[in-house]
Amino acid sequence: MGAAASFYHLARLRRRLAWPAPKLEELRRRKLAALLHYCYKRIPYYRELFDRIGARPEDFAGPEDLVRFPLLDKQTLRDRRDEFVDPAADRREWIEYRSSGSTGIPLTLWYTRAERLRMGHTVTRELLFNGLKPWHRLVNVTEPRHAAPKNRWYHRLGLMRERFLSVYDDYGANLAALRALRPHALIGFPSVLLLTGRRMLDDGGPILRPRLLFTLAEVLTGEDRRALAQQWGVEPLDLYGANEVGHIAFQCSRRRGYHLNLDSLHVEVLAGDRPAGPGERGEVVVTSFDLRVMPILRYRVGDVAQWLDEPCDCGCRLPLLGGVAGRSDGFIAGAGGELFSALEIALLLKPVLGIGQYRLVQERPGQVRVEFTAAGRETSPEAEIHRRLAQRLGAATEISLVRLESLPREQSGKIRMVVSSVPSPFRRRDK
Ligand SMILES: [Zn+2]
Repeated sequence: MGAAASFYHLARLRRRLAWPAPKLEELRRRKLAALLHYCYKRIPYYRELFDRIGARPEDFAGPEDLVRFPLLDKQTLRDRRDEFVDPAADRREWIEYRSSGSTGIPLTLWYTRAERLRMGHTVTRELLFNGLKPWHRLVNVTEPRHAAPKNRWYHRLGLMRERFLSVYDDYGANLAALRALRPHALIGFPSVLLLTGRRMLDDGGPILRPRLLFTLAEVLTGEDRRALAQQWGVEPLDLYGANEVGHIAFQCSRRRGYHLNLDSLHVEVLAGDRPAGPGERGEVVVTSFDLRVMPILRYRVGDVAQWLDEPCDCGCRLPLLGGVAGRSDGFIAGAGGELFSALEIALLLKPVLGIGQYRLVQERPGQVRVEFTAAGRETSPEAEIHRRLAQRLGAATEISLVRLESLPREQSGKIRMVVSSVPSPFRRRDK
C-alpha cells in the first residue's frame, strides 16, 4: 500500500467511528460473507468445519450465525497451523510472526505485509481519535521486532514519526533516550512505563510531561493507572489487542470502557455456552473479518470481559466492552476452588509498603507462590504480603514467598501478574 492509499484507508477507517449502527452492520455482513466464501474455498480447517456442520457460506446471514461454528483455541491453532492456510498460496509474500503467547503456548502466525499495515492503521486510528496529531513525536517502548522501520515521504516531512525503544533495554538508557526525544505521546507496557517513570522521578533529571500516554499488552490496574498519571502527569489510555487478531478495542478520553473495533472484528462474550448479558462477565471470543493468510474465526483470545450497555458521548459510536482487566488465565484458585481475579489480588498487594514488582505462581488450587522484589534492601514487606493474601484467599491456602533481585520477563517481554498451571474455569472441554 502506498502513502496515498494509506492515508485514504486511514481517513475511511476514522469516518467509521461515527457510523450509525445499521450502516456498520451492513459492512460487517458484507465482510463476513466474503470471509466465509474464502474460508470455504481455500482453508482446509474451515472447509472441514463447514462439511461437519452441513453448512455452506451462504447459510450464514450475519455474524450472529457464527455460533454454528465451534470455538477455536490456541492449542488447535498451534497443532494444526498448516490447515489454517491456503495450501496453494505463494508463501514468499508472508511475514512470519512467532508469538510466545501470554498463556505460554508458542504460536506461529502468518500475515501479508498489507495485513500488518491494516492492523497498524487500526492502532493509528485509536491514537488519532484520542488526540494524537500527525506532527506529534510518538515513542513506542516495545519488543524490538514490533519496531517497524519506516521511511515514507510523510516521515521525511516530519509527520507520523514513531520512534521505538526496546523493553529489553535498561530503564536508565531508555529514560535518557526519552529525555532527548521529548515525546508528545508515549506507548508502552504498564510495567515498563511504571519502572521508567519511577526512575525519572528518582534521578533528579528533567521530568517529562507527554500529552498522551497509551498502555497495552498487560493488565492496567486502577492502581497502576493512578501511579502512571502521577508520574507522567497524564492519565493513561489503555488499548486492548491480541497478536492473532490485531487490536480489539481502545479506551477513549471518557475511560468508561473500551470501544470495540467492530468494523474489522466480530466480538462475543460467552458465559459458558451462552452469550453473556450486559454486565455479566464472560470469555472474549473474536472473529477477524480482514485476515486471509491465516483466517481466525471464533478464537478464544484468553481474556475475560463484559458488555457495557451504555452509549459513550466521546463521538465514537462503537459499542463498549468493560472489565477487560481480568484475563481468563489470570486467576488464583483457593483451596475450596473459589476464584480470585489477578486484578483483585493486584489491588490487594499494591498498598503493601516496600513491595516492588511481583507475580503469583500457582501450580495447583489452594497453593500460591509470590515472587517479588522489594523497593529497598532494608524493607521487609513479607509479613504484610502474607497477611493480606491469607486474609483474602483463606487460611487453608498455602502461601510461600520468594524474594528476588529482579523478576525475569517472559519471552514476550511482558511481566505477568499471575502464572497459573491450573486450568481456566472459562475453558470448556471441547469434544
Ligand atoms: Zn468513548
